[in-house]
Amino acid sequence: MAATATKVLRTAGGATQRVQFGHGVEVGGPGFVVIAGPCAVESAEQMEHGSAAVSAAGAHALRGGAFKPRTSPYSFQGMGEVGLKLLHEAGRKQRLPIVSEVLEVTQLPLMLDYVDVLQIGARNMHNFALLRAVSKVSRPVLLKRGFGATLEEWLLAAEYLLDGGNDQVVLCERGIRSFDTTLRNTLDLAGMAWVKERCRLPVIVDPSHATGQQSLVSPMALAAAAAGADGLLIEVHPEPDAALCDGPQALTPPLFEGLMRALPPLLSAVGRTMARPEALAAAVGG
Ligand code: PEP
Ligand code: MN
Repeated sequence: MAATATKVLRTAGGATQRVQFGHGVEVGGPGFVVIAGPCAVESAEQMEHGSAAVSAAGAHALRGGAFKPRTSPYSFQGMGEVGLKLLHEAGRKQRLPIVSEVLEVTQLPLMLDYVDVLQIGARNMHNFALLRAVSKVSRPVLLKRGFGATLEEWLLAAEYLLDGGNDQVVLCERGIRSFDTTLRNTLDLAGMAWVKERCRLPVIVDPSHATGQQSLVSPMALAAAAAGADGLLIEVHPEPDAALCDGPQALTPPLFEGLMRALPPLLSAVGRTMARPEALAAAVGG
């Protein structure tokens, strides 16, 4: 029989592991956490406007890809180190921890100079060399589910990180491929809830990649909150029509603000609350 995950499993009655993103942002605690920002870092201006908007709306962390895993080699591949610098500057200015994807083992030293949280993307969930390398660094990890991965395979990928010594891991459901190609992916909310029951790691949901469609992002974000997710990953772009990557699924700042206003009453209906925004926590020394 194939080996199954053990280190990621919840002990009977055990609490969810809490993962710190920078100072003051805790994923897996009582507060619901929202990570937001563009798919890709594209320019100083885009980061300036985008980061100010998500911070003003109450996001807890800022995301942005500097190295993009694109299906076509002719698509925008990301700004690389220049992008990491822009993301880092925007995050420090807004007092938000930053999340960015590491594509390759060789990029790790550079990423560690800039980012607070290392994202391992859906296409790399099965990259065991990358998982092993990231397991050896003391930086929190956002591990996305591969779009063709079973729940057990996702847990085993997380097991690589814990087995190597890094237990600061947050899982992210971002939709899987199914027979139905109408939408970009199929959001597996029941799978998220199953993992929450079984696994001691926090689980967040990315309704942006899960749907690929702006109008569906907020409804699925609210559904994820109702179903018990620990937080959300949301793509926000100041000008989605001009985005170099994933524009059709990006929320505008006003749409994101609307989602952030809709979340607290929804969370309160299921006995939960939003986490305090990082900027506020930092301002009061929390
Ligand atoms: C992303 O977060 O921009 C991304 C590439 O996500 P995924 O790995 O889930 O496709
Ligand atoms: Mn994207």
